[in-house]
Amino acid sequence: MDEEGRWYSDCADSGGPSGSTLMQVADNEAEPDLSDQVLACPNCRQQVEQLQWLQNRLRACLYRATCPSSDELADFCQGLLGFHERSTIVHHITVCPHCAAEVLLLQQTDESLGVSVRGPNRSVSVRPSR
Ligand SMILES: [Zn+2]
Repeated sequence: MDEEGRWYSDCADSGGPSGSTLMQVADNEAEPDLSDQVLACPNCRQQVEQLQWLQNRLRACLYRATCPSSDELADFCQGLLGFHERSTIVHHITVCPHCAAEVLLLQQTDESLGVSVRGPNRSVSVRPSR
């Protein structure tokens, strides 16, 4: 962890906070006293802000990064996908609340619009078929 330590060693105060403390402050997980202390140092504050920015970027990138596209979900709801794609999505929505909600919404929309897609694959369930 030496490299990580060096990365955060710009603090003017030699007894400055460690990288993990800065992380905690960036995550709002530090004690209020501690985060006040850290944010009082312009150098540390800048690093906390940098961390927060990075985390936001990371979150934006990772958010639904492994999710199927809305088109795929719509096809899924209409039973237009092949067996393999369908089982991939079935598995995905058991672990992804975002997609599960989207599928649910799509199914509701389908029904309220009275979309007449009633192919043999129509009976796709949101629940895993085990
Ligand atoms: Zn998803």
